[in-house]
Amino acid sequence: MQVNNIFENIISKMPNCKVRPSQFEMIQRIDGCFVNTDIETKDGHNICMVEAPTGTGKSMAYLVPGVLNAQKLGKKLIISTATKTLQAQLIERDIPNFIKYSGLKFSYALLKGRSNYLCPYQLDNSLQDDALQTDMFVATSNTIQSQLKELNKLFTAGVWDGDLDTMPHKFNDKKIIKLITTDKDRCLGSSCGYNQKENCSCPYFKNRASLKFCDVIVTNHSLLLADISLGGGVLLPVSPENYLLCLDEGHNFADLAINSFTQTFELKQAITSCNHLAKLIYNESLKTYIYAVDVSLCDAAVTDANELAACLDKLLLLLNHNTHLFVEERLMLNDYITSGVEVFKEHFVTCAYIAGELYTKLTKIKEKLKEKIKSGNDYIIETNLNKLGFYISTIENILATSQYMINQDESRYNANARWVEIKSVVGLQKSSSKFGASKANTDIEFVFYACLTHVGNLLFNRLWSRVYAAAIVSATLSVGKDFRYYLHKLGLNLYSNVAVSKLNSSFIYAKQAQIVVPRFNSSPDYASRNEFTRELTNYLIKTLDYDDAYGTLVLFFNRSQLQESYGLLPDYLKTRVLLQTDYLSNQKLINEHKKKIDNKKPSIIFGLNSFGLGVDLPSLYCVHVIITKLPFETHKDPLNMVQEYWLKFEKSNYFIEVSLPETCIKLVQAAGRLIRDENDYGQLTICDMRLITKNYGALLLDSLPAFNRKYDKDFISKAYESLQAVKLHYS
Ligand code: SF4
Repeated sequence: MQVNNIFENIISKMPNCKVRPSQFEMIQRIDGCFVNTDIETKDGHNICMVEAPTGTGKSMAYLVPGVLNAQKLGKKLIISTATKTLQAQLIERDIPNFIKYSGLKFSYALLKGRSNYLCPYQLDNSLQDDALQTDMFVATSNTIQSQLKELNKLFTAGVWDGDLDTMPHKFNDKKIIKLITTDKDRCLGSSCGYNQKENCSCPYFKNRASLKFCDVIVTNHSLLLADISLGGGVLLPVSPENYLLCLDEGHNFADLAINSFTQTFELKQAITSCNHLAKLIYNESLKTYIYAVDVSLCDAAVTDANELAACLDKLLLLLNHNTHLFVEERLMLNDYITSGVEVFKEHFVTCAYIAGELYTKLTKIKEKLKEKIKSGNDYIIETNLNKLGFYISTIENILATSQYMINQDESRYNANARWVEIKSVVGLQKSSSKFGASKANTDIEFVFYACLTHVGNLLFNRLWSRVYAAAIVSATLSVGKDFRYYLHKLGLNLYSNVAVSKLNSSFIYAKQAQIVVPRFNSSPDYASRNEFTRELTNYLIKTLDYDDAYGTLVLFFNRSQLQESYGLLPDYLKTRVLLQTDYLSNQKLINEHKKKIDNKKPSIIFGLNSFGLGVDLPSLYCVHVIITKLPFETHKDPLNMVQEYWLKFEKSNYFIEVSLPETCIKLVQAAGRLIRDENDYGQLTICDMRLITKNYGALLLDSLPAFNRKYDKDFISKAYESLQAVKLHYS
């Protein structure tokens, strides 16, 4: 069977399936890339990037060539997404529909991380008398104990399968989740009684085992990145050489990779952990079995733990002596950015050495304890092993962070951002912003961070050069018509034959939407910020004074500007506005917004950056999107500071290379909230004259869909009427 036959099957059989030329083009592009894999000198022939606007029907367009070619080649198809919403949509709707109408037969499953499942061993521990718990393990109250018992009953009776997404809602509490889940360092793996080959009842390992027999696996970017950082084929059942990859929401992948590979540890917590670790190994009162497994190894580990604590103490002292170097509670530790921080590097050299030694010894002790468990169940050993896992994880974090701290930066391609931040310790008062006094230092924690600022080389080595074939898909992958920014970010610029395609939208933007840039006297620049906020608010007061039952989304890119502008609104308008800053979750706000419109009332959302990404408000739920200013960064984060240094050093321009493309992508994402399907209508207003007056404005305007640029003052009322008619037509 060919992709054309499958697509025809789907179109002819699936109810309400529309023929979209861009969807068919996307199928052909991906198919072309997946069948190109037999080319001997792979120079990116097996990788493609497809920018597919909203409404293309992306998932069906990669499932057709993905499943067909995976079957022909005897490979697995891995689909990775950034959001849970898209994973759920694939598993619950798109893949079942595809199987039903395509004529292809295959199995599929969702791979989630360990923390998404009940750990029955951890639950057992939490149900036990807490006499063996140290102070870092939460003591349990009676209510929690009875809830744990109830959960245990449901699980052992087979009523609940241990997947947290299907857990009865009443147990969905952070404290409970913490007591019934585990992580990679505390998990006993193959030594665990619940994870035995013949009779595995561990929900996480059961799911992992079932994946071996699946043809299609849906997962998220973080797990995919974790798998490749472990060497590939560890969390996923196959290594990159044996899968075809569809990376949906691919625009997020490089940033998520930076986050995934960011190393961090809390200094005071780390010192406490080193001290507790020494006590755990020697603990007389628990008659610990750890010490007995290998006395000389344990003695050496305790010496290392004490030395590491002493080294970290010196770092703490050093920070206390250098509080004057902090700017807004952050100290950059790149010596080419902050002078006077070279001495930190020397301390981290020692930390890295001792932490490395200690980590090796603890891993050996862990293996020996696991061996002991294999020769018979022993609750005390299991508990100690579990606690040891917690400390191993801390030491691993200190080691990895220290290594990043001492790496040599040579160019923007291997530069690391290194910094330390202060954070308030829960339950204690935060000190004044200057915290020189020793008393003030008792109520704060120092958190070290270190990460690569460019992950292109890393992704190239661990993923692109190994994967059998890959398609990177998203609604925003280009700047204007240029894909170079993302190719570079992902490390795909190192190949010369990666195919890129920008598909046409199936929406008629010139008819469905208009763009308006109102004439303002002030600019959103920092210098004229206050006048701009006043002018913006006056504009909002006039524009938002309507009674029709439709939604408006006003996007701010600065929290204080959102609050100031809201504060200046008259009371009657305030009652119509839902503030993102008042809600714990975006979904709750969206539900409230929809309820108001369903009840024939107007509703206005004042949202921040996250509302510009992926929020779906079709039809009357969003007829007007107002972008309050171009989303340029206002403060440089540590990564940007390091990038800016190296670009300057290499005589490149940070604004052109980073700031403008990032702004462009955010703007296109935010504008994408307006038109969600072929029957949608609306107006996009951008309150920033720089779009017209600055040279770069043309690039930003050309990156947006082809909105009608001829102003029609009645456009919104006409859109409202059309949308009501569409609603009536379908009701
Ligand atoms: S194998 Fe790991 S996750 Fe599973 S029950 Fe045992 S400790 Fe928990």
